[in-house]
Amino acid sequence: MVLRVYNTMTRGKEEFRPREGKKVGIYVCGVTPYNYCHVGNARPYVVWDVFRRYLEYKGYEVFHVQNFTDVDDKILARAAQEGKTPGEIAEKYIAEYYADMDALGVKRAHFYPRVTEHIPDIIAMVQGLVEKGYAYEVDGDVYYDVGRFAGYGKLSGRSLEEMRAGARVEVDEKKANPMDFALWKRAKPGEISWDSPWGKGRPGWHIECSVMSHKYLGEGFDFHGGGVDLIFPHHENEIAQTEAYTGQPFVRYWLHNGFVNFSGEKMAKSVGNVITIREARQEYSGMAVRLYLLSTHYRSPIDFDLEKLAAAQKGWERLQNAREGMEQVLGRGDDLPPQPPEGELKERARNLRDRAGEAVTKFVEAMDDDFNTALAIGILFDLTREINSFLRQPVATPGEKAALARAREVFQTIGGVLGLLPAPEKAAAEGLVNELLQLIIDVRQEARSRKDFALADSIRERLGQLGIILEDTPQGIRYRRK
Ligand SMILES: [Zn+2]
Repeated sequence: MVLRVYNTMTRGKEEFRPREGKKVGIYVCGVTPYNYCHVGNARPYVVWDVFRRYLEYKGYEVFHVQNFTDVDDKILARAAQEGKTPGEIAEKYIAEYYADMDALGVKRAHFYPRVTEHIPDIIAMVQGLVEKGYAYEVDGDVYYDVGRFAGYGKLSGRSLEEMRAGARVEVDEKKANPMDFALWKRAKPGEISWDSPWGKGRPGWHIECSVMSHKYLGEGFDFHGGGVDLIFPHHENEIAQTEAYTGQPFVRYWLHNGFVNFSGEKMAKSVGNVITIREARQEYSGMAVRLYLLSTHYRSPIDFDLEKLAAAQKGWERLQNAREGMEQVLGRGDDLPPQPPEGELKERARNLRDRAGEAVTKFVEAMDDDFNTALAIGILFDLTREINSFLRQPVATPGEKAALARAREVFQTIGGVLGLLPAPEKAAAEGLVNELLQLIIDVRQEARSRKDFALADSIRERLGQLGIILEDTPQGIRYRRK
């Protein structure tokens, strides 16, 4: 069965064909760490966590990159307010982000590049765009010249004229075209800044994602995600930057999730109608929040509703009960008891086994249809109901045990892809392992750049003994497990 996804670029569902074999590259726009994450912020990370798990279930080798915008007006404002450095603010809220995502059972991306660690790369791309005639400098600011990029507007489906009419663009004498946007911003006095060919300044917002996705995923890659609000101008601008710079098509599939609305408006810090993940977690489990977010198709808006969140909490508890009930009967072992001959199977055992088989087929159909998690959750709960009713009578014969074991296997597969059968401690530990691995790889890179090849080789060898293979790729070092 093939996976079909709704591509914002073509405005239709398309068969997913990876760029290269079974490898899949994903870039998701990450947070600006200046405050706690709210339920609306969390939605893209939860849905992409499921997309990734499903792609892995289908046998793809996924490389998932997500940035942190760790320098930005909002961070600078917050730092000034709290008398801290922008770095301290970013560090604090990145740690909070991880804590929230761990609670929601979101696996760590493979890599989280930060803007402040990529300034030379950003300057190089901006310079390249200036040299190719796509950007111009005025007074220490560098702007992208949207009139020069023929495809500008192709993602949002708007012409330059329409954008101009629709946007409240401030008149700026410096810009050649009102829709031109800043690639590099000249520093205001006292502001954090970096040296550049255009004087002291800092990067604009859009350029960072072009630079970091290009660096870690290559000239073209498979999926790019984010909320619908990012289609224009952020993703439109990313396309203009990257494609002008590389001369290659940028992203194959653009997937955008709908908003979370609350009290009739998009949940947003600027509106003030937010419920942070932290607040939600005081009353509900992170898993309930996850289940709630996944119960609506990712492209549809969610009208945030505390009653529905409470219902999700109950739903998640039902899943836990079913899991524990099966464990009590079958033990923790994954060994399937031998299947007795069909003729000896009791009706109820045959029924459970068949329902489990159907559940897996329906689940794959649902997920293949543009990641329909809402339908997939329904299928998981139908199966849970079958399991719970099966468990109400003694499970004694080998046939009954075999049927229950089959149901458990399916329950774990579906629940695992949806990330709803957590061992939260395990998720956190896995995140830490990935971080530590990245740290070791960075140390090895530093050794190599100091020409300490003995140390670099020894690190590679010892990782190899642990089953971790390092691969040199055009996008840098990647690791995979043997
Ligand atoms: Zn971005």
